[in-house]
Amino acid sequence: MSCYIGNLTGPFHAGKPMRILLIEDDSSLAEALRKALQQQNYAVDVAADGLSASHFLAVESFDLVILDLGLPKLGGQEVLRRLRDAGNLTPVIILTARKSLGHKIEGLDLGADDYITKPFSLEELLARVRAILRRGVNQSAPTLTHGRLVFDTVSRTVRIDDQEAQLRARELGLLEALLRSTGRVITKQQLAEHLYGLDESIGDNAIEVYISRLRKKLPSHSFSLRTIRGIGYVLESPE
Ligand code: CA
Repeated sequence: MSCYIGNLTGPFHAGKPMRILLIEDDSSLAEALRKALQQQNYAVDVAADGLSASHFLAVESFDLVILDLGLPKLGGQEVLRRLRDAGNLTPVIILTARKSLGHKIEGLDLGADDYITKPFSLEELLARVRAILRRGVNQSAPTLTHGRLVFDTVSRTVRIDDQEAQLRARELGLLEALLRSTGRVITKQQLAEHLYGLDESIGDNAIEVYISRLRKKLPSHSFSLRTIRGIGYVLESPE
């Protein structure tokens, strides 16, 4: 796997160093950024392609991701899409040579928090890193609201009109992934990866079973799920 672990020294938040995952395939740029970030006492891991980055993000948690868009094996946009589809809210700064407005909007739509085009000054990047990490530290407990349904992602409970829905862990995981991609198609493969991790292979059947349980347990006004034959599902936006 083309990634390497930086040393874990750095500023601490709640007793832990602030961890940054830098995803950049240009090795000299990656090395320069890693050094600069480490000088600011961040703990930095580097991934040099999209696949190893995705794997890293599935098994480790970071305070911030710096993501190049043009990557081998799996593009940066797809890395970001998978991250958000999996319900992962880690802040992401996109780093790219592509200057077109279209790419910028697309990146922000996919859930990037900030965007820097190359060439950029190190000072500018460091300032944005500081700004985003400050924001992250003060973030309150995330709640997902969908019409009359409220999903508390900390207590892992779902309420509809103040009545708690009785959902099991896998059903909650599936519902969370669907809520985070409301109005967009989410494939069975993405749902399977969210529930089981990258290395386990499960049949489409398992996902269908959980989906049908959710359909039974949740009222249709709060859970209107459209099946896209052979592909996956779209959770319709609430009225
Ligand atoms: Ca690149």
